[in-house]
Order: sequence, then structure tokens, then C-alpha cells
Amino acid sequence: MPKRTENGPFDGKLTRFATSLVLPVDKSRSGECNRCGACCMFFVRCPFLRFEDGKPNTARCAAYKVRPPQCRKYPRTKEEQIHLPCGFQFEE
Ligand code: SF4
Repeated sequence: MPKRTENGPFDGKLTRFATSLVLPVDKSRSGECNRCGACCMFFVRCPFLRFEDGKPNTARCAAYKVRPPQCRKYPRTKEEQIHLPCGFQFEE
């Protein structure tokens, strides 16, 4: 479920794409992906997203080894984390 869309959902996608190319993941991030797939369906559903028998929390990437930085680093910062619940958290 989208959380922060102050400037519209497309802005979040563009921001995530651009910053992931040059900036690191925030060091305060902890947790792990629960494979909900929400970030893979944001704005446009990724064609590489797969679910095991349609079951929830079984998302996997069919192009995992060559996935782009915006996927590798999501959520890079708390500000860019627009899907909640998510398995990752950030220190305040
Ligand atoms: S929203 Fe969070 S928990 Fe869900 S697939 Fe993306 S990184 Fe994983």
C-alpha cells in the first residue's frame, strides 16, 4: 500500500530511480524483505515479478541477478520507502 505520495506516485518512482544510481543505502536500515512484492508493482507491475502459485509473500524476481540499482537498493532511505508494511525499517 503506498504511504507517501506528496508529489504523486510518478515522482517517487523517478526519485528512486535517480538516487539509486549514485547514492548508497542508508546505514540505519535493518530488517529484510518479506517478499510482499509491493515495490515491484509500484506504478507499473514489473514483468519479471513472479509469485509462487499466486500465494502472498512469495514474490521473487525472474531477473534477480541482473536487477537494476533501484530494485537492489529499495528501500534506500526512509523518505524513499513508500510501501508499508515493508520488512525493512530505519532508525529515526
Ligand atoms: S515493499 Fe519491502 S518487503 Fe515488500 S517486496 Fe519491497 S522491499 Fe520487500
